[in-house]
Amino acid sequence: MIPVQGVTGQTIAVLGLGRSGRATAAALVAGGADVVAWDDSADTRAAAEAEGLALVDLTRDRGWEQRIDALVTSPGIPHLYPAPHPAIAQACARGVPVDNDIGLFFRSFATSGWEEFDTPPRVICVTGSNGKSTTTALIHHILTEAGRRSQMGGNIGTGVLSLDPPQDGEVVVLELSSYQTDLARALTPDVAVFTNLSPDHLDRHGGMGGYFAAKRRLFSEGGPDRCVIGVDEAEGRYLAGQMAQSPQDDRVIRISVDEKLERFGWSVFARKGFLSEYRKGRQVASIDLRGVRGLPGAHNHQNACAAYAATRAVGVAPREIEAAFASFAGLPHRSQTVAEIGGVAFVNDSKATNADAAEKALLAFDNIRWIAGGMGKEGGIAALAPLFSRVKKAYLIGHSARDFALQLSGTPHEVVDTMDAAVARAAAEAEPGDTVLLTPAAASFDQYPNFEKRGEHFAALVAALK
Ligand code: ADP
Repeated sequence: MIPVQGVTGQTIAVLGLGRSGRATAAALVAGGADVVAWDDSADTRAAAEAEGLALVDLTRDRGWEQRIDALVTSPGIPHLYPAPHPAIAQACARGVPVDNDIGLFFRSFATSGWEEFDTPPRVICVTGSNGKSTTTALIHHILTEAGRRSQMGGNIGTGVLSLDPPQDGEVVVLELSSYQTDLARALTPDVAVFTNLSPDHLDRHGGMGGYFAAKRRLFSEGGPDRCVIGVDEAEGRYLAGQMAQSPQDDRVIRISVDEKLERFGWSVFARKGFLSEYRKGRQVASIDLRGVRGLPGAHNHQNACAAYAATRAVGVAPREIEAAFASFAGLPHRSQTVAEIGGVAFVNDSKATNADAAEKALLAFDNIRWIAGGMGKEGGIAALAPLFSRVKKAYLIGHSARDFALQLSGTPHEVVDTMDAAVARAAAEAEPGDTVLLTPAAASFDQYPNFEKRGEHFAALVAALK
């Protein structure tokens, strides 16, 4: 745990008592604060009270009769749009600062003990609409494989304040969502990474401009030493231009999977499966990504570019990165090859709960035996029609199976209803060189509690085939 600094004797209110809220409360208590806490759910409040937290109803005036020095809130709670949560509205009306665990982390990260260190610990933060988790996990993997001390957390795995206090030379890698970057009062990474931008969570940010503004704060608050920025969208190009003094300024590392970026001070791009690093107009490294099992498809090549650039920025050598790419297993449920049986690859992309995400996976593999279906979204799989020619046959499951069958029309398909039947049929019909791909383009709720359980079921059925 990282005890929060600068709160001794203060009263801090914690709103939202899920896992990260309770961890935040514990880190505040460890830092000497008095904590009062609230959650809208009576069950959650009862569990927190049983753990010894003092409850105060922060949504009402009387909760604020005592002095409260700051309000710390959880990312799931709206702080501005579509409307501020009543407790946050109370804080804002009273001029009480609102912060989150990320802000507390940055103000508590450096300690006087660092004077003994040879190399001060550093923080790499990753944000963007897609690929955050993969990029974060890949950076952590590269650092670890290169023999560097590293911890990973934030929006992935461990909450930031539950990390261990950093040691000499350590690099902490954090995945940050737009909700987290929007609120943090301190946000000072050494290396900031912005992967890409597409519309998401717009209700929480008052539209696209607010969403981009939330992500941009990662670059504007502290001024990172290095900025790794995906420039395949207008927003990324704008941000890169804003952070650099000139095209040659190597404080910014531009990344792309669309364009050869040869004219900048520092750039990393992937074209036709090859990653290239350029510095001041010269190619300094190249890596063949085509055979890297853990990073299939152009979208993952973008993640590879981002992770490459971020780890280069903290001094890892290209050859070390190349070796680490080869041993990266991928994250569960994200285009992850779970088995190869008789020349047939079985890939779990259960995270693809909509057509957009499934598109990435359909582009990443050939000779596809596609397991799709579940609770389809508006429009179903109509948007994927240009990719149907990549599919040898579709095996349709769940609530939307018949709708998807209609949309597939001439593409070979079969309504099999269940995952058991889908895996059995696809495995029986697959030929060497085929990929049996679970990328459902639908939510899982009709048959599973969540996409993880769906992916685990697929992987278990595949394991039983061996
Ligand atoms: P995030 O943490 O941002 O949600 P993940 O790494 O968990 O991202 O990937 C989630 C899904 O998004 C993947 O299954 C894949 O379909 C898609 N994806 C991953 N990386 C990218 C990328 N760079 N660009 C577009 N889509 C991506």
